[in-house]
Amino acid sequence: MSKLQMNIGILGLGLIGGSLGLDLRSHGHYVLGVSRQESTCQKAIALGIVDKASIDMDLLAGAEVVFICTPLALIIPTLKQLITHLPASTVVTDVGSVKSPIVQEATSLWDNFIGGHPMAGTANSGIEAAIRNLFVQRPYVLTPLATTPPAAITVMEEIVHQLGATLYHCSPEDHDSAVSWISHLPVMVSTSLITACMSETDPKVLQLAQNLASSGFRDTSRVGGGNPELGVMMAKYNRSCLLRSLQQYRHNLDELISFIEQENWVALEQQLQLNQGARSKFTE
Ligand code: NAP
Repeated sequence: MSKLQMNIGILGLGLIGGSLGLDLRSHGHYVLGVSRQESTCQKAIALGIVDKASIDMDLLAGAEVVFICTPLALIIPTLKQLITHLPASTVVTDVGSVKSPIVQEATSLWDNFIGGHPMAGTANSGIEAAIRNLFVQRPYVLTPLATTPPAAITVMEEIVHQLGATLYHCSPEDHDSAVSWISHLPVMVSTSLITACMSETDPKVLQLAQNLASSGFRDTSRVGGGNPELGVMMAKYNRSCLLRSLQQYRHNLDELISFIEQENWVALEQQLQLNQGARSKFTE
């Protein structure tokens, strides 16, 4: 059923939806955009993100594939409304950062649903944050189930390749466990780092620390100092995986504390050496 150029719908024209629109249009697809605000629809047309835009989901009735790019909490409510406008042949996917709860419910609502997660973003949000080539050489995870129609998987694989992203397949559960380690835990660790620094009671020292903070603090505090709504969504929707990761992290932190309390510099160095080697397995 898939072909090189299609009518593609995007529901939720923000950073991810808008960036998808820019790239899909540049690959020759006809892009139909639906967003909540009329002003966003107009900006999407003016910025060349979509060919047509509306606040009315009926615009998507002719789309062969629809990407739901709303905030996480709105994906299922949006899908419920959307499917009343679609023929059964339309492939629907989402871009939500958590997969198990969404894929489970979405699949029960729409047979032709396939979960997805482009692992790309910036610190900005909204239609004006949309940029070209956001997904190039970044992981794009698809989480099909045994019941997902093969044609839906194929069409999404083709789109992901066109975006220049690196395609991965896994179960929704494995996705959520993996992102809990490398995406959701870092947000919580980073935000608690900022809280800890702010607990300095001497105003003179606190001010000095703020003045002296440089690249190390910038790197380690970046994800914890970002959009609060995203952090809450991660915790709410990926709660059990995140709690497991946080508890393991607390254990490792306790271990470091005890090495330092006991002046066990050998054990501390061994741990730091292990991690110096392990880091590249995640970053390269
Ligand atoms: P965003 O920039 O805030 O965009 C979301 C857009 O959804 C808003 O611009 C808003 O458009 C629209 N919207 C809100 N409620 C709507 C509704 N009821 N119906 C239709 N449109 C609605 O957020 P984002 O960063 O693109 O995130 C969107 C999704 O991508 C989330 O599910 C997130 O988990 C996922 N994701 C995010 C990242 C990231 O790093 N940011 C990475 C990967 C995946 P209006 O202007 O019309 O209100």
